[in-house]
Amino acid sequence: HAKSTGANRVAAFEPGMQTEIEKLFLIEEDLKTALALGQLSVHVQPQYNNARAVIGAELLMRWTHPERGPVSPADFIPVAETSGLIVPLGEWVLEQAMQTLLALERLACDVSLSVNVSPRQFRQLDFVDRVRALLQRTGARADRLIFEITEGLLVERSDSVLVQMNELIALGIRFSIDDFGTGFSSLGYLKRLPIHEIKIDRSFINGVPDDEGDVAIVRSVLLMARQFRLQVIAEGVEDQRQVDFLFANGCEGLQGFLFSRPQAVDHWLAELALAPH
Ligand code: C2E
Ligand code: MG
Ligand code: MG
Ligand code: MG
Repeated sequence: HAKSTGANRVAAFEPGMQTEIEKLFLIEEDLKTALALGQLSVHVQPQYNNARAVIGAELLMRWTHPERGPVSPADFIPVAETSGLIVPLGEWVLEQAMQTLLALERLACDVSLSVNVSPRQFRQLDFVDRVRALLQRTGARADRLIFEITEGLLVERSDSVLVQMNELIALGIRFSIDDFGTGFSSLGYLKRLPIHEIKIDRSFINGVPDDEGDVAIVRSVLLMARQFRLQVIAEGVEDQRQVDFLFANGCEGLQGFLFSRPQAVDHWLAELALAPH
């Protein structure tokens, strides 16, 4: 009956909107089976320091639909969030991260892996138990795992989120604030929570070094991070002038198309196996 209510509601909208809503609905229907049908995969995008050494990498979910081809995370992640499908999908990515950590260990490559964790995952009462069980089952090291969360999760100010974060930190997991600066959160959490890292959003990195406003924001964030002893990663680095500006201003890690596009995990591991590190 949920379907028929949806269809009735759709009928009241303009034709253009109808296709948009139908598209989202189709995405949700197809996404339900995507994992079971092996249509999902994980890509990885490395992060580099001033010496061009890989210091970490972020795992990013990919979906190749049998008819529509690759579907952008910008289209399917929001659907997965609202439907709750992000919970099993996110857990699957987490397991992929742990398997990848084992492969990195076999290569004697000690980089950390970052995984995007949705607020929906945190709202599971047994989230910490599930993470702990996955760690035990895979044998992966928790101290090589970074959970990327957004300011939105911290805005909730829910005590249970703080308790869960501290339990995960006790396991060795570190936390990174993704898309830093785009949320409406107060900075108070920086003094309350043992955050390890912040990732400056691509929208601010875009404008450096030419846009005065972006320059001011990025410099201020880097100064503040130093006071809090936070590591900083810049997202979406696309040209050398951004690199020069960011390293000159003390940013530790850069991630972006200039260095590397997100790539298949196996491809990346093969590359690491050949390169000295
Ligand atoms: P994000 O976590 O902020 O990830 C960074 C996004 O920026 C990725 O988009 C990446 O491909 C893109 N990117 C990296 N370097 C550059 C660059 O130089 N230029 C430009 N224009 N873009 C760059 P992607 O893979 O499309 O993912 C979009 C968002 O979807 C992610 O943003 C994240 O919020 C979400 N997402 C992806 N995978 C997962 C996942 O496994 N779980 C959850 N909860 N969310 C995910
Ligand atoms: Mg991220
Ligand atoms: Mg981001
Ligand atoms: Mg994002």
